[in-house]
Amino acid sequence: MADNYKLLIGGELTDAASGESFDSIDPSTGETFAQVAKGGAEDARRAAEAARKAFDEGPWPRMRGRERAQYLMKAADLVKQNAGHLAELEAMDAGHTIRVSKNADIGMVISTFRVFGDIAGREQDEEPLPRVPGSSNWVRREPIGVCAAITPWNFPIQMAAWKIAPAIAAGNTVVIKPASYTPLATIEIGRLCLEAGIPEGVVNVLSGPGAAAGETLVESLLVDKVAFTGSTEVGRRVMQLASSNIKKCTLELGGKSASIVLDDTDLDYAADGALWGVFFHNGQVCSAGTRLLVQRSIQDDLLAELVKRADGFRVGPAMDPASDLGPIVSKTQLETVERYVAIGRDEGADLMAGGERAIVDGHDGGYFYKPTIFAGVRNEMRVAQEEIFGPVLVVIPFEDDDEAVRLANQSIYGLAGGVWSGDSARAVKVAERLRTGTVWINDWHMINPRYPFGGYKQSGLGREHGEIGYNEYRETKHVHLDLGGQSRKRHPWWDVAVPKAAGKPAPAPSPEAPGSKPAG
Ligand code: NDP
Repeated sequence: MADNYKLLIGGELTDAASGESFDSIDPSTGETFAQVAKGGAEDARRAAEAARKAFDEGPWPRMRGRERAQYLMKAADLVKQNAGHLAELEAMDAGHTIRVSKNADIGMVISTFRVFGDIAGREQDEEPLPRVPGSSNWVRREPIGVCAAITPWNFPIQMAAWKIAPAIAAGNTVVIKPASYTPLATIEIGRLCLEAGIPEGVVNVLSGPGAAAGETLVESLLVDKVAFTGSTEVGRRVMQLASSNIKKCTLELGGKSASIVLDDTDLDYAADGALWGVFFHNGQVCSAGTRLLVQRSIQDDLLAELVKRADGFRVGPAMDPASDLGPIVSKTQLETVERYVAIGRDEGADLMAGGERAIVDGHDGGYFYKPTIFAGVRNEMRVAQEEIFGPVLVVIPFEDDDEAVRLANQSIYGLAGGVWSGDSARAVKVAERLRTGTVWINDWHMINPRYPFGGYKQSGLGREHGEIGYNEYRETKHVHLDLGGQSRKRHPWWDVAVPKAAGKPAPAPSPEAPGSKPAG
């Protein structure tokens, strides 16, 4: 009997209005293991109304940041207490190897709640502005309102935390719609937020198809901001729909990140690093280093190392602690990977490793694919320009640093990039010329909730994480307080525009007015 997962709306776990549900499939077996409520347009409206009510009438936006911080810390503690269950859920729903879900995913969720709790606890809501004689001026940072969050299938539990934690830390309410392949962990995070005492309606979870639940949410006039992570194509659609009432938008979209190996690097370290950069979670990572740009003089030696190591990876079921790579998330995505490998062959790239499904004993129905490496790739090929979102690395040679930078930047994307080199000064010079939101030097996937993350070009809009990401969830208000009718003296046009007799002196200011003393 499959487990049942419901929508979370206004603090209640509830069925979809239609009564419909959909299957959640374990990609290691191809079998259904849970049933999930299939939210539609009506449920999206209900969820937006619940979030609106919690924002307009509830206590959450009116609390001090440090008060909200206590709830985020409590949510982090509950995630920690439920770590085992959540890690298994993520492995079965999204195909994360249990090694990754236990050691990386859950830790990241805990630290994301803690970091935003910490930021909410110490960030000032009011800051004084430079003085103009006879007045006080200050800036207030306020929550934006109701946030719609839409997340992809590749890192569902992390994405839930990346969206929920900063939104609610800043005093907003949120409706989160997880990807239909992987809704379970998000529903659990929503439930834990409720258990942490976060008031009903502050966190709402709406599983259901993007075309119905997602679009209704993004178009809703009750929603003030959209935070989306997913493909550039859907991001474009979301931006159009969000224009209905000029919603604030943050978009985290696709990538085709260049991993540049300079000739002065430690080959052994760079080979391991490049493989980690691309094959972590089967390359189903927006910031994966999928284009390996290698200085021609070291190409043959590096390629030999890459192929040897990739052939040695153990592909297996997600729940097996010995698996290096788990399954691809879905049959559809597996077929996408196969299609791109066929395109690479047709384009004339040399297949050096993988290039076919992996057979895993006892898991005939699973969606497994071997880590794949193409050499002899030109940067203009489709396999070098389009996001595959699977375990496929393309290797492209270059002559010198200028050519490496030119090739790296020849992409519609600009999410991440990286440089492998034994010479820090040379690597930094290359890094500074890359048009991407993040650059790693001698490292990869170093994503931390304290450091900003997001894309240049068609990889997105705005940033997640850190104070910069927190402020994407806050409005800025300038408050001006005239001190005792001084305004008339400052604005010579006042008396020109409005007859003197109509003017009344402004009331005397309260000595407690926030702008009259430094905030904090
Ligand atoms: P999609 O863009 O297809 O879907 C993302 C989310 O949007 C899902 O929840 C989906 O719902 C929903 N959605 C789909 N259509 C609409 C619509 N018309 N209106 C509103 N919502 C909609 O991406 P994937 O989930 O397939 O994820 C893979 C892609 O995401 C890759 O291209 C990858 O690069 C990118 N990505 C970017 C990241 C970043 O940080 N920059 C991180 C992770 C992924 P449903 O599942 O029901 O279709």
